Amino acid sequence: MTVKSVKGFRDTLPGESNVWRRVEERIRGAFHTWGFQEILLPFLERTELFARSLGETTEVVEKQMYSFQDLRGESLSLRPEGTASAVRAYIENHLDQGDPIVRLFYTGPMFRYERPQKGRYRQFNQMGIELIGDPSPEADAEVLSLLDYLLAHVGVTDVTLAINNLGHAGCRPAYLDALRGYLASSREDLCADCLRKAEQNPMRVLDCKVEACIAVAAGAPSILDHVCAECRAHFEAVRALLDLNGVKYVVDPRIVRGLDYYVRTAFEATSSRLGAQNAVAAGGRYDGLVKALGGPDVPGLGFAIGMERLLALLPEDADVPSDRPSVAMVGAGSNEARQAAFLLADRLRRSGVAVGWGGGRSLKSQLRRADKAGASYVIILGDEELEKDEVVLRDMRHQSQERVPRARVGDILLRRLGLDETVKG
Ligand SMILES: [Zn+2]
Ligand SMILES: [Zn+2]
Repeated sequence: MTVKSVKGFRDTLPGESNVWRRVEERIRGAFHTWGFQEILLPFLERTELFARSLGETTEVVEKQMYSFQDLRGESLSLRPEGTASAVRAYIENHLDQGDPIVRLFYTGPMFRYERPQKGRYRQFNQMGIELIGDPSPEADAEVLSLLDYLLAHVGVTDVTLAINNLGHAGCRPAYLDALRGYLASSREDLCADCLRKAEQNPMRVLDCKVEACIAVAAGAPSILDHVCAECRAHFEAVRALLDLNGVKYVVDPRIVRGLDYYVRTAFEATSSRLGAQNAVAAGGRYDGLVKALGGPDVPGLGFAIGMERLLALLPEDADVPSDRPSVAMVGAGSNEARQAAFLLADRLRRSGVAVGWGGGRSLKSQLRRADKAGASYVIILGDEELEKDEVVLRDMRHQSQERVPRARVGDILLRRLGLDETVKG
């Protein structure tokens, strides 16, 4: 019997992984351009970190975490998201004691025990940023502008950026009271989940995907009518910068983050092509989080992009170069000729040319294999070539071939493949 992968965990095969890396590199490039530096975070944290940052009663912490006790009886969890770990690392490593504004990005797998479905896995990947220490509306606008840029930069166009103003600890309670009052009058229309949330965490009802709840949410009082003058001014300043910058967005009072420390700007990038779970990226300002986790009282904000969802939105014709070797080495004939071919392949690889190795079958089958693998060039080295100290260099695209000195084939290939600059530089 074979051993299968764990439900909800998948393999990313060659071909797909190539697209993946390409997209990741582009996003990484945009993060760098916006001044963010990478932080490499552990996958495993103390369960307490997520209980405190996400809240004991949230769905993620209650039902979706991969938590277990280690051999000393300590409760540990695979990270379900990146922000808690980034903020924990910020506090633990005293990153606040250098530059007062810290810009971090992270990338990697997250783990949630959810019902697996199309495009949703129990191990999924996120790339995210955290901008800690800057309370200004410019920071919000900058982060939103970055998200807008990188979605377009990777080739995803049919995405809506929706933003909302969640108010702050001073002005939100009045809104929550108004919302609770409204929800109490529509109890019979709410799903079981929302009935439970209506009192405890009423804003979560606003982003329920059940149709009846969407109808209730549509008539709910808007938080935008309840925020204080400072929160309103902050939001207007963010919007003014986005407008000046030509970043397109809609204001949607149903965008919520559902946790107390999320304040003011909250946002989501959604696509109708993703179905009910339609957010490809989400984020917001979390001014209370660093303090809540035992750090200094500094503001923060950030977002995370769902990589699987982002990749699902890539256009079919996305321009992705092949990750297959561009050169195939074909060794044929005597043992000496085959040894020479082996050594030449190795030398070429060490100089930066990706070379596929033909293996031990006949000349004909090796050539067929090279063609099928999409190699741009094939090098043939048999006894005749060995004797003349040459190789046959076949250009597969132009269907032409020539004999070149064995010692020169490396330079020729580096030049033709456009690698000479990159390798020497
Ligand atoms: Zn509901
Ligand atoms: Zn306020």
